[in-house]
Amino acid sequence: MTKINKEKESLLTLEKLKLKVTYDQDTGHFVWNSCRDARYVGERADRGCNDKYLLVTISGKRYLAHRLAFMYMTGAFPVGEVDHINRNKADNRFCNLREVSRSENSQNKEMRHLAASGLQGVKEIMNVKVGNRWRASITNNCVTKIIGAFATKEDAHAAYILEKQKTHTFDSSVANIKVATPKKVTTKQDLVGKVFERLTVVKISHVANQQTYWLAKCSCGNEISVPTNQLNRGNTKSCGCYAKDMRLEGNRLRRIREKQQGVNHA
Ligand SMILES: [Zn+2]
Repeated sequence: MTKINKEKESLLTLEKLKLKVTYDQDTGHFVWNSCRDARYVGERADRGCNDKYLLVTISGKRYLAHRLAFMYMTGAFPVGEVDHINRNKADNRFCNLREVSRSENSQNKEMRHLAASGLQGVKEIMNVKVGNRWRASITNNCVTKIIGAFATKEDAHAAYILEKQKTHTFDSSVANIKVATPKKVTTKQDLVGKVFERLTVVKISHVANQQTYWLAKCSCGNEISVPTNQLNRGNTKSCGCYAKDMRLEGNRLRRIREKQQGVNHA
């Protein structure tokens, strides 16, 4: 980010600016009217720098071109920051510039920090147990709010847009976007159809003590009701037949061992 030097700006008059350069509000370009080297007259005066904001050097002092554009058009440097509406730092067409507060400007910058999803405000969360989800979050005045988790990134993005319309009221680019109401992922939707060893979750059984109980069909044919955390932690893997089978298997192996030992002793 190129620093704004208000003191330097205060020394530049509109007369001097217009004497040196002409700003074309439709192209956003600055060209030299007068220059120490006459060869440059009529050439572009705005040059790029590292972070891609264009600069114009007037009497040995460098100015941010987008701020100069404001000065040129309105006769004064903006008090707040100048935002590039389409987020292209080099696009200084006057219709692409607007004066905003620092907080508003950083809201518009969110797009530059794209999450792996490729969608603004959406990040993928890896979860081996319930499957990957898409988390929507929004940042306002440096505070990040988690909007929720969603099964698809499109739903997460829709939730982000809805939240942005409420929070970033200044941003006209999202004001009129219509999105379908996104479905939040809840534990209820997560577990139906999921398989936990021998158990396949059929539907919600009931809710008790703020716990959701699931009706699950065991591979042996029995049905049982299990709370969410028992399934997620892997504590319950069957109707009870698994433990029974293990006991029987243990007994069988022990009998075989005893038989062999018996044979050996004989
Ligand atoms: Zn069973």
